[in-house]
Amino acid sequence: MGGSSSPCASCKLLRRRCAKDCIFAPYFPPDDPHKFAIVHKVFGASNISKMLQELPIQQRTDAVNSLVYEANARMRDPVYGCVGAISYLQDQVSQLEMQLAMAQAEILCIQMQQQQPSPNNSNYLPEIQIDNNSLQQYLSFTNSSTSSVISVMQDPFEY
Ligand SMILES: [Zn+2]
Repeated sequence: MGGSSSPCASCKLLRRRCAKDCIFAPYFPPDDPHKFAIVHKVFGASNISKMLQELPIQQRTDAVNSLVYEANARMRDPVYGCVGAISYLQDQVSQLEMQLAMAQAEILCIQMQQQQPSPNNSNYLPEIQIDNNSLQQYLSFTNSSTSSVISVMQDPFEY
């Protein structure tokens, strides 16, 4: 190192002189060598350089953050990378939507049971109004749900 200040993390790893207008320097400071090492390993320094050159300066920080995130995901999951994380989360969302719909259906069943005339029950729990929204959700849910869910909802009426 014959320069004035210390080279950026990229130039240090690539063992080259860090020029004044080094494209990496603003995003890969020397105190965080791992950040560049991982994107270099996954994307390659010349690809990163090309990508950054094609972007306006105000978008480069976001691009680097995204590359770092993707590179980390790719190290964790070499086959799917980010896509693995996305589909895992999408699975969770649809499972939770299913659970929510089941819970809403159960609530509706309980509400309907309570609305049947029974003097003992009316004092027991407060009366709950079924609003249009939840009724619509209930209806759209029954249309698209599996048969096991329908049987759960129809159960209370069997007694
Ligand atoms: Zn540099």
